[in-house]
Amino acid sequence: MLYQRSSQLFVEASKVIPGGVNSPVRAFKAVGGTPIFVKEAKGAYLFDEDGNKYIDYINSWGPMILGHAHEAVVNAVIERAKLGTSFGTPTALETKIAELAVAMVPNIDKIRFVNSGTEACMSAIRLARGYTKRDKIIKFSGCYHGHSDSFLIAAGSGLSTFGIPNSPGVTEGTAKDTLLANYNDIENVKALFEANKDEIAAVIIEPVAGNMGCIPPKADFLNQLRSLCSQNGTLLIFDEVMTGFRLAKGGAQELFGIQADIICFGKVIGGGLPVGAFAGRDEIMNYLSPLGPVYQAGTLSGNPLAMAAGLQMLTELNNDPELFKRLDEKTAYLEKGMHEVLSNNGVAFTINRVGSMISVHFDKDPVYDFNTAKNGDNDTFKKFFHELLKKGIYIAPSAYETWFITDALSYEDLDYTIQCVDEVSQNL
Ligand SMILES: *Cc1c(COP(=O)(O)O)cnc(C)c1O
Repeated sequence: MLYQRSSQLFVEASKVIPGGVNSPVRAFKAVGGTPIFVKEAKGAYLFDEDGNKYIDYINSWGPMILGHAHEAVVNAVIERAKLGTSFGTPTALETKIAELAVAMVPNIDKIRFVNSGTEACMSAIRLARGYTKRDKIIKFSGCYHGHSDSFLIAAGSGLSTFGIPNSPGVTEGTAKDTLLANYNDIENVKALFEANKDEIAAVIIEPVAGNMGCIPPKADFLNQLRSLCSQNGTLLIFDEVMTGFRLAKGGAQELFGIQADIICFGKVIGGGLPVGAFAGRDEIMNYLSPLGPVYQAGTLSGNPLAMAAGLQMLTELNNDPELFKRLDEKTAYLEKGMHEVLSNNGVAFTINRVGSMISVHFDKDPVYDFNTAKNGDNDTFKKFFHELLKKGIYIAPSAYETWFITDALSYEDLDYTIQCVDEVSQNL
C-alpha cells in the first residue's frame, strides 16, 4: 500500500494544526508512522486519500455501530439541514430524541444534550457535586471520561497514586478532589470511602472499561459499588459514552441489571455527529439550571443536525430487536477465530470481550485493570498494528483501545480479518 498523499497531507496539517491532528490518538504516535487521511467511508470500509481500502474496526471510536454513511441517518441530516442548521431556540426534535432515549434506557426520567462525551461527564460531576454538596470524586485508573480537568488523573497512562495530574495545566487544587481507585478492586474503593467519610460526591466508572483495552467488570463488582454508594450518600455515575446504545438498547445498566444515578452518553447517541448527553431521575436532573441551581449550558447543544442524526440512529436501534444479538454473535465469531490462530502460532495473548467491544492484549495473563493492561507487549502490538494495516485492516493505533464491531461487517470480512491475523501472528 502507498501512503504518499496521506504523508503529504500530514506534513501540511502539521504546519497549522498541533501535531497535525485535532485529537491526539489519531497521530499514530503510539505505533509510529504516518496517520492515514480518510477521504470517505461506506458500511464497514474506509477509503483513504491514496485510494486504499480498509476494513474498519474503529468506527469513529464507536459511534458508527451500523456502519459508515448509513443511508437513513445521512438522509435525516440532509433533510434537516435544508430547514436551517441552528436556531438557539428549543426545537420539537429535541423532545423527540429525549423521549426515545428515556424509553430505551432504564431508570432515567430526564436527559440533557450536550456536544461531546467530555461535556457530558464534566457536567455530570458538577451536578453530582451540587446535588450532594460534596467536593470529592472517585475515578478508576485507566478509565477515560473525556479531557476536562477533574478527569485527567491516571486517564490512560502514567503512575497511579493519589491525585497526580496527568497533564500540565491541571492544577493540584483540582487534582486533590479526584481520588483514584483500581478497577475491579472493591476493597480499594471501600478504603477510600472510609478515609473520606461524607466527602465523596460521586463515583464515576466505565461499567465496561474501554479505554485501557476492553476490561469487563468482575462478577458483583458493580453491584458492590452500587451498595457502597447508596450506603454513603454518594451518587454512582455510569459513563456509558462507549457502552450506551452499544451493549444493549439500555446500555450497561440493562446488561448488568444495575441502576446508576447519573448516566453519561456520547458516541452512538449522536449517530456520527457531535453529541453527548447525561441523564438521571427527576430529583437529580431537576437540580440543573434553569430549574435548579447547578449551571450548565451550550450554544449548539441540541443542535438540529446532531439531533436529527441521533434520533435516526436511536430509531434504527430501537426498531431492530435482533441487532445487539447479531453484534454479539459477530464479535464472538471474531474472538473465537483470533483465539484459534493466535494460539496455534504460539503468541502470548489475552482477548477480552463484552458484546461488540473486544481487545487483544499481548500478554498471556488476565487483563482486569490498568496495571495488568500495561503489562502487554507494546512492540508486538506495534508490529501487529502495522502488518494488519498493510493488509487493509484498520484497528486503533494504540494498545489501549477497544475494537468496535459494526453491523455492517460481513462474515466474509471477519474471515478475511482472522486470516490476516493468522498470517501476521506467524511473524510476531
Ligand atoms: C470517548 C469517551 C469520552 C469522551 O467523549 P468525547 O466525545 O471524545 O469528548 C468519555 N467517556 C468515555 C467512556 C469515552 O469512551
